[in-house]
Amino acid sequence: RPDTLERISPWEWRLQPTGSMRVPGVIYASEPLLRDMEEDVLIQLAGVASLPGVTGTVYAMPDAHTGFGFPIGGVAAMDPDRGGVISAGGVGYDIACGVRVLLSGMHIDDLLPHQETLADALFATIPAGVGSTGAIRLNDDETDAMLARGAAWAVGRGWGRGDDLAHIEDHGTAPGAEPELVSAEARKRQRDEMGTLGSGNHYLEIQVVEDIIDATAAEAFGLRLGDVLVAIHCGSRGLGHQVATDYSKLMLAEAPKHKITLPHRDLACAPIRSELGRRYLGAMRAGINCALANRQILTHLVREAFERVFRKSVALPLLYDVAHNTCREEEHRVGPVSRRLYVHRKGATRALPPGHPALPAEFSKVGQPVLVGGSMGTASYILAGVAGSEGKSLSSACHGAGRLMSRGEAKRRFQGREVVGSLKRQGILVRTPSFKGVAEEAPGAYKDVHMVIEVTQHAGLARPVAKVRPVINVKG
Ligand code: 5GP
Ligand code: MN
Ligand code: MN
Repeated sequence: RPDTLERISPWEWRLQPTGSMRVPGVIYASEPLLRDMEEDVLIQLAGVASLPGVTGTVYAMPDAHTGFGFPIGGVAAMDPDRGGVISAGGVGYDIACGVRVLLSGMHIDDLLPHQETLADALFATIPAGVGSTGAIRLNDDETDAMLARGAAWAVGRGWGRGDDLAHIEDHGTAPGAEPELVSAEARKRQRDEMGTLGSGNHYLEIQVVEDIIDATAAEAFGLRLGDVLVAIHCGSRGLGHQVATDYSKLMLAEAPKHKITLPHRDLACAPIRSELGRRYLGAMRAGINCALANRQILTHLVREAFERVFRKSVALPLLYDVAHNTCREEEHRVGPVSRRLYVHRKGATRALPPGHPALPAEFSKVGQPVLVGGSMGTASYILAGVAGSEGKSLSSACHGAGRLMSRGEAKRRFQGREVVGSLKRQGILVRTPSFKGVAEEAPGAYKDVHMVIEVTQHAGLARPVAKVRPVINVKG
């Protein structure tokens, strides 16, 4: 460990600014989590803290692990008025990857007799896997409309209901999207991929609430012990990946022109106030809308599958949809004044405190639902935003348990078929096109989610509301 790492509390470590770092870093972790964190997380965080216009403090969430450029679990704010940059790698290659949770109002006892049937129906309905394709084909005009309006477009086309939109960040539409800045190649990659889950880490999971930790917040969120939930984790598929690829290349090529010295080529970035920065923002927001539309279409497909299995309409209202690979323009107090900053959250979710104006009224008293995956064999959590989190993490929290080992190492250690068999004995039905994918995503490949949640709570980033466990998992 670098001797520049100072222990602030059992949950918080400060990375002093040294070398090219312009601001300090903070890592939220317990001693065991920090011990397991790769050295690269600290090196990457130091790289982020060296970027032009970086403001305040850069953060690593307790689920942090090595990523491309930014660590996954990284949060950093850039000031556009002080040469602040936007980084395509800092947003991530799966633009607006995120999680949404649907409520079913159904008790687990009513689901269990249909568990196999529902698993099969979901697997048959939801296209999953590398390069999975769906039934939806969009022409150029429709693609533009989708990229401009996101989930609101999908609802307009009949995939979902109007009341879904109130429970999505920005009401389901990222403002400022510029579809014309998304390349032909990116559009082509998305031609067959609307309404698909994608591979590996993405999942559609049926979960049951097994513990209520905060009764008041649980009530506001509509969560009861024994309730069945649906969690959907996916992003912007081929289109988002291509936008990131296209603009990373341009950012790398243009860096000298903007006199940016990159700590690492993966941190390629452009000034927010430059033509390239502006163009990337427009394309990235279109990518966000693609992810929002995608999760919305999947929601509709899940509702259809439930209807077929239970032979009645199951409403499945949306609890919340939150992205964890984004850059948003937000107002934050840094020091004595409030400034408009561009907040990168890469593998980190927003966690708005009670009373925040962007929250739907029903959540105003308790804070934003924060949706955290564990793994296909362990618990996942639903948390709520807390007061005071702005000064701690720009109101951000962990997005998962976070990887403990690389995909390669997981494949060497685990056998997909065995993992599926062992989960079945624990009452978890996995449906997947790829046993290799399952091996990479084996529960043992992830950190202990309870530890991650404990740190998140004690560090004051968010508070746990309910613990859930999986009963069906469709894995990409
Ligand atoms: P990422 O977006 O970084 O790929 O993944 C987010 C988090 O989801 C991971 O850190 C991991 O803890 C969690 N996760 C991965 N696979 C599954 C799964 O199948 N089910 C659940 N509930 N969580 C998962
Ligand atoms: Mn994700
Ligand atoms: Mn993703």
